[in-house]
Amino acid sequence: MTTPVLDHWIDGTSAAGSGTRTAPVYNPATGVVSTQVRLASAADVDAAVAAARAAFPAWSQVSLAKRQQVLFRFRELLVGRQDELAAILTAEHGKVLSDAKGEIARGIEVVEFACGAAHHLKGEYSVAVSTGVDVYSFVQPLGVVGIISPFNFPAMVPMWFYPLAIAAGNAVVLKPSEKDPSAANWMARLLEEAGLPAGVFNVVHGDKEAVDALLEHPDVAAISFVGSTPIARYVYETGTAAGKRVQALGGAKNHMLVLPDADLDLVADAAVNAGFGSAGERCMAISVVVAVESVADDLVARIAERMSTLRTGDGTRGCDLGPLITREHRDRVATYLDIAAEDGARVVVDGRGGEVDGEDGGFWLTPSLLDHVPTSSRVYTDEIFGPVLAVVRVEGYEEGLRLINANPHGNGAAIFTNDGGAVRRFQLEVTAGMVGVNVPIPVPVAYYSFGGWKASLFGDAKAYGPHGLRFFTQEKAVTSRWLDPSHGGLNLGFPQHD
Ligand code: NAD
Repeated sequence: MTTPVLDHWIDGTSAAGSGTRTAPVYNPATGVVSTQVRLASAADVDAAVAAARAAFPAWSQVSLAKRQQVLFRFRELLVGRQDELAAILTAEHGKVLSDAKGEIARGIEVVEFACGAAHHLKGEYSVAVSTGVDVYSFVQPLGVVGIISPFNFPAMVPMWFYPLAIAAGNAVVLKPSEKDPSAANWMARLLEEAGLPAGVFNVVHGDKEAVDALLEHPDVAAISFVGSTPIARYVYETGTAAGKRVQALGGAKNHMLVLPDADLDLVADAAVNAGFGSAGERCMAISVVVAVESVADDLVARIAERMSTLRTGDGTRGCDLGPLITREHRDRVATYLDIAAEDGARVVVDGRGGEVDGEDGGFWLTPSLLDHVPTSSRVYTDEIFGPVLAVVRVEGYEEGLRLINANPHGNGAAIFTNDGGAVRRFQLEVTAGMVGVNVPIPVPVAYYSFGGWKASLFGDAKAYGPHGLRFFTQEKAVTSRWLDPSHGGLNLGFPQHD
């Protein structure tokens, strides 16, 4: 049987393009290649941008009401057919079906926010700023915008951006991860079914060549990127050097500070859920539990006890977590267990060789727990992005806060305590963009905005919510005077307010 080939989606239709390279797409639960995805050449990116550019003038003139109707229809179709999309996510990413549905639910929230975008696309008006002069502002779309997304949320991360970009009147070129690309084409077809005109939403598959072509393309006005920190920095620097507006969300190392008065059962549940959900391949996963020494032994025991009940396996079989995305990534994550032991950490649970409900060829690693992790160890300093939870011990709040704030990443941070005063200090003092109070994964709802600080976000704009709409629009201020009989003749100075 020949392996199917996944095309690009350009101007409302599948397109093979002129690029000759392809990449294998695996089912991570079996290790079998399911699809070959095309890798775009610069000419393919150019074709997608040209289609978007051609579609932009008409789409930007479509009334807000009609744009929103398309998004409402898209939302209805998505809700009705989300099981199809969830099956694609599980087959290519490996995450368990319930988690795939959770990902889609968070994406739908952004679509729903976009359905009400008109409220946020209003300008301002000042009457009589000077004699007979009014000033008002309004927002206009940017034109063609590029979205470059990571493997770990093949549906949700693109949905952080394109519903708002489209609602604001832009045309989109999406470059999804080449590791799990099929969700993008599925969403493109659904948008078309919802009534989106051809060319407003395009998908080019590819790797660095496609990304570079987008970053350098003169007709691309803005780039929304999500991925690892080194690539986010590269995209930000290259894109802004080419004159584009860029938001580039990077990697993370999310800490959870546990004070001695916290409810340790709640904390242990939260650490396990947030550490091992989606096999730790979430940018908001908790990877470091910062435990105050006096409760650390007790907490580690409770976490380990819960871990023994977790089922790792094929995402279609009702397990708690699935495989990792590729064999290379699985092997890389596993090396951190050796590094931990070499660096003097205590390996409480070693996930290598754990029991798995899945095929032998899958990219399996069951959850691991490391205690007494030194902060000089690469286990602490690297983003591992797998089911490995590290416990670092501290004397108290001050030392915990210093540790968290010294970390170069600043995506999410959580505190677990019943002490309101400590919470108040933490939310003001921690240098992270999203803070959880007795909540381990504080992903903001769609009408706030998502984004970290420090090396977790390059640029000024966060994703979705009010930031999202600001990012995809530019404001224009108009100073207007309609002549009346009192107009005052020549005056070369700035207006005086007397
Ligand atoms: P990645 O950086 O490898 O890839 C992201 C995108 O960049 C992909 O589309 C990929 O094709 C492209 N890319 C890869 N190498 C490139 C290069 N050398 N030049 C140009 N483009 C390149 O990230 P990933 O492995 O797909 O995703 C996991 C990472 O994403 C983790 O670091 C995770 O923390 C991060 N992430 C962050 C957020 C956030 O909101 N901050 C959300 C999800 C994922």
